[in-house]
Amino acid sequence: MSSPHVTVIGAGIVGVSAAAWLQKSGFCVTLVDSEPVGHGASFGNAGNVSPGAVVPYTLPGVLRSLPGWLLDPEGPLAVRPSALFEVLPWLFAAAKNSTAEAALKTSRAMKALHSGTYEAYDALTLGTDAAGLIERSGQLYVSEKAGGAQGSPLARVMREEAGVRVTALTELDIRDIEPALAPIFRSGMLLPDNGRCKNPHALVQAIADEAMRNGATIQRGTVDGFETNGKCVNGIVIGGKLVPVEQVVIAAGAASGKLTAKLGTRIPVTPERGYHITIEDPGVAPRIPVSHVDAKFVCSPMNMGLRLAGTAEFAGFDAPPNWKRAALLEKQAQRMFPGVKLNKVTRWAGNRPSLPDGLPVLGPAPNYDNVFFAFGNSHFGITAGPVMGKYLAEIVAGRKPGIDIAPFSPTRF
Ligand SMILES: Cc1cc2nc3c(=O)[nH]c(=O)nc-3n(C[C@H](O)[C@H](O)[C@H](O)COP(=O)(O)OP(=O)(O)OC[C@H]3O[C@@H](n4cnc5c(N)ncnc54)[C@H](O)[C@@H]3O)c2cc1C
Repeated sequence: MSSPHVTVIGAGIVGVSAAAWLQKSGFCVTLVDSEPVGHGASFGNAGNVSPGAVVPYTLPGVLRSLPGWLLDPEGPLAVRPSALFEVLPWLFAAAKNSTAEAALKTSRAMKALHSGTYEAYDALTLGTDAAGLIERSGQLYVSEKAGGAQGSPLARVMREEAGVRVTALTELDIRDIEPALAPIFRSGMLLPDNGRCKNPHALVQAIADEAMRNGATIQRGTVDGFETNGKCVNGIVIGGKLVPVEQVVIAAGAASGKLTAKLGTRIPVTPERGYHITIEDPGVAPRIPVSHVDAKFVCSPMNMGLRLAGTAEFAGFDAPPNWKRAALLEKQAQRMFPGVKLNKVTRWAGNRPSLPDGLPVLGPAPNYDNVFFAFGNSHFGITAGPVMGKYLAEIVAGRKPGIDIAPFSPTRF
């Protein structure tokens, strides 16, 4: 008897991880993507691998900070006027989820999902080309304000409740850990159990390559529709052609909502654009990722250079990048690392798949027996991707997933 077959739409970190875990459960897998493997958000992120990521962006006070951020052209958040109408309901929903009680619930679900990231990566990468790309390096958080690095009292409570190890740092400690940093930081925090990925695109590619060695196929094309019998999806439409399917996983990142809507499920996943610059031969060499807490960007040493990544821009899907936001990162690099050389800089923009309660969607589709959803990891997909894949495979195989998936339900909106 031939193995059951699953078609995974989207070959980012979530899709390729899902494919690899599905194979471990005995499924044959086809990955479908309109782009080459790993060219979505998974390409250009900051590579923070953070089992201790338990502080959501939906924190109390976010609504109060919004006007200041929006009015500051150099602030961490921007909304294009053309996208305002589309984005306002999302921002209001995010603000509604920003009570202390809701944020604590989100934090607990983040812990359940993120804490297993290293084990999941070990299982996917051991003995493959991806082994060694994840390093348990620790992460440094710095602030130009006294006491700013650890964030709000609620953020501290969240880390404490989740058992995340934290070391508070003085100005001197910061310089001991990263001597390349400018002496402008007044408080710091070390999360020794968090880590980094040395090359996120190579990681996704290597997991996909290993899946192919194990029999997976990759089909290039955009899925733009489904054929259903009302209860099951019988086929996906790629470039006008119907391709028969047995089971389908939607792991299409920020574009997932367009696909779920075609299956009758509206999910408010929005493209939250981020930017990066990668500096080849920067002339400064931080050892571990450093997050600038006030300006909200991460500075990550990677195999190909020093990457600064961050900013949140709501611009809709089709608006061209605003490269001024990437230029801002160059300015910040100079402020943070006085000796930095900006001779060889590449720029990139990509869409985080973000939901207004700060949690992804993971589980069976409400209306179809053979469709499953796995997307919406916003700022944390490199951390959560391999774990999402693991639980997704358990769900598709009809087993009880290793965590309570109720907080990630597609019907919660
Ligand atoms: C600037 C920035 C910094 C970040 N830093 C970090 C970090 O440090 N740590 C961390 O954990 N996370 C970080 N993230 C978040 C992380 O990158 C994302 O959450 C993660 O990459 C999402 O993975 P994904 O597989 O869901 O989506 P993607 O990687 O976007 O993949 C989705 C894929 O689906 C394909 N697709 C979409 N629609 C269709 C269709 N109709 N048909 C066929 N294919 C389709 C796309 O082409 C794409 O390849 C960052 C993100 C950004 C933008």
